[in-house]
Amino acid sequence: MEPRGGRAARLALGLALLCSSLDPAAAAPAGPQPPSAVGQFWHVSDLHLDPTYHITPDRTKVCSSSKGVNASDPGPFGDFLCDSPYQLILSAFAFMKDSEQQVSFMIWTGDSPPHVPVKELSTKLVINIIGNMSSTIRNFFPDLQVFPALGNHDYWPQDQLPVTTSEVYNAVADFWKPWLTDEAISTFRKGGFYTQLFESSVSSQPLRIISLNTNLYYSPNSVTVNITDPANQLAWLDGILETSSQKKEKVYIIGHVPVGYLPFARNTTAIREYYNERLVKIFRKYSGVIAGQFFGHTHRDSIMVLLDEEEQPVNSLFVTPAVTPVKNVWQMESNNPGVRLYQYDLLNYSLLDLWQFYLDLRDANKKNESNWKLEYILTKAYGVEDLKPESLYEMVKQLSVPHSRLFEQYYSNFIVSYDKTIVCEGGCKTCQICAIQYLDYSSYTDCIKQEALWR
Ligand SMILES: [Zn+2]
Ligand SMILES: [Zn+2]
Repeated sequence: MEPRGGRAARLALGLALLCSSLDPAAAAPAGPQPPSAVGQFWHVSDLHLDPTYHITPDRTKVCSSSKGVNASDPGPFGDFLCDSPYQLILSAFAFMKDSEQQVSFMIWTGDSPPHVPVKELSTKLVINIIGNMSSTIRNFFPDLQVFPALGNHDYWPQDQLPVTTSEVYNAVADFWKPWLTDEAISTFRKGGFYTQLFESSVSSQPLRIISLNTNLYYSPNSVTVNITDPANQLAWLDGILETSSQKKEKVYIIGHVPVGYLPFARNTTAIREYYNERLVKIFRKYSGVIAGQFFGHTHRDSIMVLLDEEEQPVNSLFVTPAVTPVKNVWQMESNNPGVRLYQYDLLNYSLLDLWQFYLDLRDANKKNESNWKLEYILTKAYGVEDLKPESLYEMVKQLSVPHSRLFEQYYSNFIVSYDKTIVCEGGCKTCQICAIQYLDYSSYTDCIKQEALWR
């Protein structure tokens, strides 16, 4: 099936390219470069719809996702102790649509159901919620190519995603048929992952999307304990990347649970360490074809730079913040709802910039108005040229400096401007800085050990 990328959008981008008179054959002369033609795509993640959300005087009854705790300050767009009311999700997609940004596609990295006790959900409910979110997106963007990935909550019981075909994989495959090729759908039914080409009208090179089911590697997934290569996804990934490099394709990796270390927890990987080491090795081997990696799951805004064995930056990875504002009652931090726009070079898919948009939840509830706005533009906020690994590595060096104002900015963005008075110093900063640059066990633990040297 032909990808359904918005034809009008592609036409507009094609015209933009003509106007900038950039000839691919003349793209690499010495001296000042003409401005590159820019493509864009949206990234949304962790919608976590809570269908029970409603305003009621008994604050323990506002949402099931608060798990009996009093909602903090509930309003029409949600509460920091609750998952997303449908109205919040609608406001996010309405904002994206009304912004009239010309985009080539959207990536959607999973987690549609709410954080509620397992017994309050079922396979049927989880399937219904994923179906509801899929049709919500399609109703807002009927002609847009969407590349989705499964999250650890997109299964019942949560986290236990299986290594063979299942009722959920099959039902979700049916929801995602309008976006994916027959081949992608067939791989997805077997293991919850797929690959698909995005054909650009501008570049002679197509872009390959690889949507991984990293939930198979997620620590709480007891189905995959002691399996060296669940669903043979690692061997499959290696094979796809090998072919891609022979064909000189460019690849975006998308997935829900990120590789690397959690920026808010010391010595903790999001996926099991064994799988993390194996993935890092594959990503280093094929860093030349991978032009970007995009994840969700932590609900926070963070970056990672993959270094090779010589400590050279070779890959840029991004974790996009959630649409849901939910936090646990014992947590100090949460995040405002966020959605993200990436800009890339239309000719070679290298990442140029990202625009982070957010909803100030307290303000929106107070005014009964969903005033989504720009939070920051990455290159402007951190004074870097683009989103290439070298540029992000420069940025991390700036962040690492003691009392770095830029790091304060980074941390405020990490929690999507949730609370400007929260600071991250000492051990908190160590974890953040080490997680950004060191994705494997040995380099990460070295970084943690050396914290006294650079702090
Ligand atoms: Zn989530
Ligand atoms: Zn998740």
